[in-house]
Amino acid sequence: MNRAKIRRILTLISLLLFPITLNFFSPYVSIDGAFNGIISGSVIVFILLFLSGLLFRRAWCSYVCPVAALSEYTEKINGKSVNRKRLRIIRYSIFALWFITLVSGFIIAGGIKGIDPFHLTENGFSVDMPLKYITYYLVLGSLFILTLTIGKRGACHSICWMSPFMVAGAWVGDKLNLPQFKIVSDHSKCIHCSQCDKVCPMSISVMKDQKNGSIMTQDCILCGQCVDVCPKKILSIKCQKRKTK
Ligand code: SF4
Ligand code: SF4
Ligand code: SF4
Repeated sequence: MNRAKIRRILTLISLLLFPITLNFFSPYVSIDGAFNGIISGSVIVFILLFLSGLLFRRAWCSYVCPVAALSEYTEKINGKSVNRKRLRIIRYSIFALWFITLVSGFIIAGGIKGIDPFHLTENGFSVDMPLKYITYYLVLGSLFILTLTIGKRGACHSICWMSPFMVAGAWVGDKLNLPQFKIVSDHSKCIHCSQCDKVCPMSISVMKDQKNGSIMTQDCILCGQCVDVCPKKILSIKCQKRKTK
């Protein structure tokens, strides 16, 4: 089975499990926990995302996140590239607001009083009664509409509160010169066909970025679509340090 197929199956399973896992990704649950002095399951997931970023950069966005499958199905309706830099401003503004609220919550609660991974879930289930499906479909609908109107991975670029944790992890890992998974290129053999640009779900100019020998933008989710489409086979996913002796 090839990488693309494995990825499609994994993300579809993740999307089907979203009614169970929703609250473990929820910014609301983390804030509710913070105001009660509780480290909830979603805060634990955000910490794990930071740690995964150290080595895997943003691979989570390609292989695990439930929004990945939703985004890829929506891309078939609206597959236009997006202005990543402009959307990044919106995303980080939302993230900053949420993060300040989270920290304020813990301060107001008088610090961390406990850890409850299942906070606001029913024994680990997020959507445990028919009424909660309203919240679930509201979340799903918003993510769908954002992607549909903005373009490729529109929700990921504009509102994702999780990606900054991976970006921070990737940044720290890079500064510590840890080995990291990344797209590397034998750039001298590029024939500038731009096939890689066309397939990139994150609207990255792969053809331009690969000239540096590797794709180091924070937006690369290591999906490998550029690797698979390149007619010269000069792109690959490798685990390596930035500085090699
Ligand atoms: S950017 Fe956010 S919503 Fe999109 S795949 Fe990554 S973690 Fe999921
Ligand atoms: S640069 Fe390649 S691996 Fe990275 S997101 Fe784009 S297509 Fe996927
Ligand atoms: S697909 Fe390969 S050969 Fe074509 S522009 Fe991209 S890196 Fe260069």
